[in-house]
Amino acid sequence: TCGICVEKCPFDAIEIINLPSELDEDPTHRYGENAFSLYGLPVPESGSVTGILGPNGIGKTTAVRALAGEMVPNLGNYDDDPTWEAVLDRFRGTELQNYVERVRDGEVSIARKPQYVDQIPKQFDGTARDLLEATDERGALDSYIDRLDIGPVVDNDIETLSGGELQRVALAATLARDRDFYFLDEISPYLDIGQRVTAARLIRELAEDEDRAVLVVEHDLAILDLLADTLHVAYGEPGAYGVITDPKSVRNGINEYLKGYLSNENMRIRPEAITFEEHAPRETTKAEPLVEYPDLAKSYGDGEFSLDVESGTIYNGEVLGVVGPNGIGKSTLAQLFTGDLTPDVGDLDFALDISYKPQYIEIDQPMRVDAFLSSITDQFGSSYWNTEIANPLQLNRIMERNLTDLSGGERQRVAIAACLSQDADLYLLDEPSAHLDVEQRVQATSAIRRYAENHDATVMVIDHDIYMMDLLADRLMVFDGEPSIEGHASKPQEMRDGMNDFLSDLDITFRRDERTQRPRINKPDSQLDREQKRAGEYYYAK
Ligand code: ADP
Ligand code: ADP
Repeated sequence: TCGICVEKCPFDAIEIINLPSELDEDPTHRYGENAFSLYGLPVPESGSVTGILGPNGIGKTTAVRALAGEMVPNLGNYDDDPTWEAVLDRFRGTELQNYVERVRDGEVSIARKPQYVDQIPKQFDGTARDLLEATDERGALDSYIDRLDIGPVVDNDIETLSGGELQRVALAATLARDRDFYFLDEISPYLDIGQRVTAARLIRELAEDEDRAVLVVEHDLAILDLLADTLHVAYGEPGAYGVITDPKSVRNGINEYLKGYLSNENMRIRPEAITFEEHAPRETTKAEPLVEYPDLAKSYGDGEFSLDVESGTIYNGEVLGVVGPNGIGKSTLAQLFTGDLTPDVGDLDFALDISYKPQYIEIDQPMRVDAFLSSITDQFGSSYWNTEIANPLQLNRIMERNLTDLSGGERQRVAIAACLSQDADLYLLDEPSAHLDVEQRVQATSAIRRYAENHDATVMVIDHDIYMMDLLADRLMVFDGEPSIEGHASKPQEMRDGMNDFLSDLDITFRRDERTQRPRINKPDSQLDREQKRAGEYYYAK
């Protein structure tokens, strides 16, 4: 095996995987004998946004602690007391020299946004405003509250905020600091696309207008592309060693990553390239309908929020993508389908047996992962189940862990496995990409697709990662309206129509990278942006 998977190779490609072996050169830091080693370091630069693209567990927190001056990297000599002079010697003549000198002289101050915003309420008591006022060193608070749309919840207790609200509060709290170096460990979890784009713009403005150095880890590639000026690809073996490459242009870095081959490093990091559909998939002959549903309406309370749903058909064996902003009624529709809610208008003469993975996963039973999963399916441990579910979701390494000890990404993978392992008419996954690193997204996407194909299973996936949607969905259901007030759900549409509907609402167009056909967000009001809007082609442009 190559180290990615424990059992059979999901790519059937074991012979061509030439996984990087640990480097010959000395690491930047090694925690101890046979402990994790980090090679290379990212290069923060004032006035620019530096991205890191790679899996979790590859040493990015270690690298940031070094860059923040909280830890002197030992250059592999874990028995000696490390010194900044030695570090400086190592990086003399490189792009890092200047930065390391400033760290040595204690001149670099840092602000950081943690990866798991869900933990914030455990560390902070008070309202969002209390938190924000304590961090507003630049007097930027009002502007961030306004542009990140925090106003409606700013006087609420932190512990009552949703994941998306916490993410925006955490972002505002970090960006409002007056520091030299900002480290943002993922900005996109729980945010919808509009919010992600806004966050990306605010971060770019901080770097450009205030001349700050920003380092971001981000797994939503469309957003990373928009956000960063330069990019370090990180690879290696999570938990064992990690290599951070020299900086690349964002375009090249992402293209090489998708191709699975790093040119400068002459390193293959994945056996297969990831490719995107350049043209909208052609309408395929439809299978049998799973359900046909009429126009529906549902409102809560005295009509504080109301949803209406255009009648439509969901076909057996399709993957239906569901897109739209947060708070627009997507979960409400799911509950109408399961029969947990009754529509005010329209009759549903079916109640589908839905296997549902919610957005916020609570599986905090004191139980081991293997015991939990084998309680769900008697297929557990069969070679079929291992090939289809456990391997692509990288579960083998965490089988013996307790559910309560899992990280966000580990819990997400267990929850996806649990959802797909049940017998159901419809599999509904709400934001499966959250907390998965970019490589895990690719693997989870192919696991979900393959499951649908091999089982004639019908899958609905709600997600905000547009690359994941492109790779997953056969058709799209688009929600629009005014979040928290009213939502409209379109009938399931062909990909081209759905993307146009969705993106015109957001006022975002995508062009294609010439070399790889990868979709890239256009600069607002650029020539292509204007041309595509005129032609009404927001995603599959010629
Ligand atoms: P990332 O931020 O990319 O997820 P980290 O830098 O947090 O990665 O950790 C990389 C690896 O180093 C992990 O396997 C972690 O267990 C290990 N590690 C982190 N801190 C220490 C430490 N103080 N001693 C030994 N190993 C550590
Ligand atoms: P989405 O899944 O698109 O984020 P939801 O369907 O969860 O949206 O929620 C849509 C709106 O309905 C939100 O404003 C939410 O606060 C409100 N809402 C959801 N459930 C209830 C409920 N049980 N009672 C009152 N309002 C609700």
